[in-house]
Amino acid sequence: MTRPHDDLPRILSTLLNGHSFLVTSHARPDGDSLGSQLALAGALRQLGKRVRIINSDPAPAMYAFLPDLSTIEIAASVEDPFDAVVVIECSNLSRSGVAGLEGRPIINIDHHAGNAQYGTINWLDESACACAEMVVELIAALGVRLTPALATHAYVAILTDTGSFRHANITARTFEICRRIAETGIDPARVAAQVFSNGSLGRLRLTGMLLDRMQLEHDHRIAVLTMNDTMLAEAGCDPDDLEGVVNLPLAARDVRAVIFLKETDAGLRVSLRSKNAVDVRQVAVSFGGGGHRNASGFTVENQTPETRGLVIAGVATALDVSQQ
Ligand code: 5GP
Ligand code: MN
Repeated sequence: MTRPHDDLPRILSTLLNGHSFLVTSHARPDGDSLGSQLALAGALRQLGKRVRIINSDPAPAMYAFLPDLSTIEIAASVEDPFDAVVVIECSNLSRSGVAGLEGRPIINIDHHAGNAQYGTINWLDESACACAEMVVELIAALGVRLTPALATHAYVAILTDTGSFRHANITARTFEICRRIAETGIDPARVAAQVFSNGSLGRLRLTGMLLDRMQLEHDHRIAVLTMNDTMLAEAGCDPDDLEGVVNLPLAARDVRAVIFLKETDAGLRVSLRSKNAVDVRQVAVSFGGGGHRNASGFTVENQTPETRGLVIAGVATALDVSQQ
């Protein structure tokens, strides 16, 4: 099932010939960045390699159960030498939030459109539903056994990045990879319950507050959720406990896109979600961010009173263009 890829042989020789590797991914990690890093690092360790995973931000609470999560180090920079650095789903090097990566041999693995191809080797596959799909193929090509722990990491990545097998980019290959994952003996239903039925009451309370205050724009086709620190405190919810909440308004037939505005000390953090052909990646890119057609984000450090209206106008244009 491993598809021929020009860069795969170079990645294999770099990983098989080297001894020490750094694995990293983007700031504010999600299920795919965590699962892909842990699966790949675990496979490299099986080959006897020295591997460190360094991320700039800790994992959201919902991923606390991941078997090897404690092996991820949190740091703002890295100085130690490595034979190569594997950077997973970062459109550019600064997305990692970890300083000190420039000038090193870099294996760049991504499934997003718009990757800046900053790696020594670039393996970019927009047809992959998650980086973990690519990582499972890489693990097979390395000749490493997919253990239940590696399979759990990869399954969490695919489960979350596909919105529980609902988003675009799910292909026969996705299910072929998941077949291999299930064959390791893991219980997919149990893993899904650990991800989705294991949240805090604070998160549930905050969800209620957000939906209660939801605003509908553009003929009910855009839902706007707004959150600030006061609401977090009132609900007793951790800011890293919000993963997935942004998708909830899409449950309504009328809603075609969601804007989730999070007012933080660092500025305004915006998450965008959409259905079908509505391209919210372009909107995020216009504000300096990125992502996928149906899931994107960006941060505005110096927001103005007009910022909210500009984001809504951008999403409204994306809706009109897509005729959804
Ligand atoms: P989220 O809304 O969950 O933070 O992000 C949704 C998607 O957009 C993810 O695939 C993420 O990688 C991408 N994304 C979010 N923020 C940024 C950003 O600031 N820059 C880029 N390039 N992508 C982003
Ligand atoms: Mn991903």
